[in-house]
Amino acid sequence: MNKTTTDNPAAQNKDNREQASQAAKAGSRASGQSVQGSRGSSQGRQIDMIPVQARKSVSASSQGRKSASASPQGRKSSSASPQARKDGARSSQKRPSESSPSQDRRKQSARRTAPAARQNRGNASPQRRGSRPASARRRRNRIRRLLSLAALIVMFLLCAILLVSGIRRFFKGKDKVPPVITLDHKEDYVVMPWQEYEEEGFSASDDRDGDLTEQVSRTITEDRICYRVSDSAGNESVVYRDIPYDTSYKEKTGKDFPEINIDDPDAQGKIVYLTFDDGPGPYTEELLETLDRYGVQVTFFVTGAFPAYEDMIKKEDAAGNSVGIHTLTHDFEKIYSDDKAFWKDIDQMQEIVQRQTGHTTNLMRFAGGSSNSISASYTPGIMTLLTEQAQQKGFQYFDWNISSGDGGSEGDMNMVINNITSNLPNQDTCVVLCHDTKEYTVNAMKYLIPWLLDHGYDIRPLQFDSEPAHHGVQN
Ligand code: ZN
Repeated sequence: MNKTTTDNPAAQNKDNREQASQAAKAGSRASGQSVQGSRGSSQGRQIDMIPVQARKSVSASSQGRKSASASPQGRKSSSASPQARKDGARSSQKRPSESSPSQDRRKQSARRTAPAARQNRGNASPQRRGSRPASARRRRNRIRRLLSLAALIVMFLLCAILLVSGIRRFFKGKDKVPPVITLDHKEDYVVMPWQEYEEEGFSASDDRDGDLTEQVSRTITEDRICYRVSDSAGNESVVYRDIPYDTSYKEKTGKDFPEINIDDPDAQGKIVYLTFDDGPGPYTEELLETLDRYGVQVTFFVTGAFPAYEDMIKKEDAAGNSVGIHTLTHDFEKIYSDDKAFWKDIDQMQEIVQRQTGHTTNLMRFAGGSSNSISASYTPGIMTLLTEQAQQKGFQYFDWNISSGDGGSEGDMNMVINNITSNLPNQDTCVVLCHDTKEYTVNAMKYLIPWLLDHGYDIRPLQFDSEPAHHGVQN
């Protein structure tokens, strides 16, 4: 300032003194500092122009230094004005245009840092300076801790699973459970004496190997079947089945079923007409049940011998059997006394048949057969007459070519079965004489009918044009 004053030309001294005097006046009006400022600088004029703002600037500058300690911005703005730091008075001489924005920034900085400072009150300033990185570190640490916790949980679960499966395996141990064989049983299935056992079915399963049915070995011994199977661990199961042979024959007769050794190369499809005379009677219904069981039909040559069973005729017909007339009375003396008596007897029986079945029949069988010779003792030649008249009246009369032999007072199932089966090979078409008034005959049919079917014979009821098996009239 002094230099400036001494360098100025003398001509300017007066003006300078006047200006200085004015400035001093103005400065004394405004502030003592401004006067001081005017003393040592050529910037006196500028200082004189902003005396009030300069004071403010000083105040703001000192404030700025305070805030500089709290914020880098403050330090930066402070370092940006070294002149102000050197000398507080000099800094007060700054032009308003330079100091104002800096002050504003410091104020803003101070305002920004104020809440943080309040929040971190009591903390040392370096910690406050590192608050942001510290919180990031904390966040990172928290994430790390969470990740390691999750990993621990996963590890724990894996260990638990391994432990449980190990325990299970330990307790299961070696496979000691054998497979289970299950046998099926068909209801009412029995093996007839001449039959071979037909497998009713079986299955095998193992708790570890699953279905082992295919691996079952099956061997037949005398009267039972052995089923055997092993699982992969070598556990074996053996189950036996008693062959359900039909034992009723022996129970009924006390004898074994007759051995039937016939050689009938034409058996397959050979027609067998089973015919039953002299009923219906007490055993007829049982016979009908047997026929129904095997689905076969036969022929009944009916009589009026058992009026209480007359309604069996209806059942016979309804089941598809053929119904023919035998005789009402079966009284040889009466029916063979003359042809009128014979046809009267036949007509009365026809009425019963019509009443029971709803229709008449054109099938008939003479009592004793067309070849009977007993009639000769009552009326010679009557069979010749009656056989002619029968055909004239529209009847077909049937005899038989196989007799069961049950016409007498003695007999049994063995006899019936033997008589019939042994004669089958001798006939192209078999018309078999039986009597449903004989219990053993009806029982024999329970074995004979399945035997015939098993051996290929075709059991049918007689029709008008069926094989009549005429014996040939002998009277
Ligand atoms: Zn008879």
